[in-house]
Amino acid sequence: MTQAPKTVAKTKENLRKCLCMKCPTYTFMCKMKNMPGNMAAMMGDIGKKDHMEAMFCAFGKSKCIDEEKGCICMTCAVYTENNLDKAYYCLGGKMPQM
Ligand code: SF4
Ligand code: SF4
Repeated sequence: MTQAPKTVAKTKENLRKCLCMKCPTYTFMCKMKNMPGNMAAMMGDIGKKDHMEAMFCAFGKSKCIDEEKGCICMTCAVYTENNLDKAYYCLGGKMPQM
């Protein structure tokens, strides 16, 4: 039996819980580069956005982050609430190292 893909709701409530901004993998350069776009996105309905440089478990792979420096998704409320099981969603998602 195949499992349905896990989908995380693109809500501002979830976005507020997202820890990506505090993660070492989300580099300073990427934060700077993406701040205007993220701010603009937050003004509108993020549920209608195809991509944001945040909450990568909902919005998919980052267009800026390209190197693993540790993932803190496992400590995020969105992770627990949605029964997520991967790490590095910013890099497309991979099984966490145990
Ligand atoms: S699980 Fe990871 S990508 Fe998803 S909201 Fe939390 S910190 Fe962000
Ligand atoms: S998905 Fe994981 S590794 Fe990527 S920025 Fe968010 S917390 Fe960090």
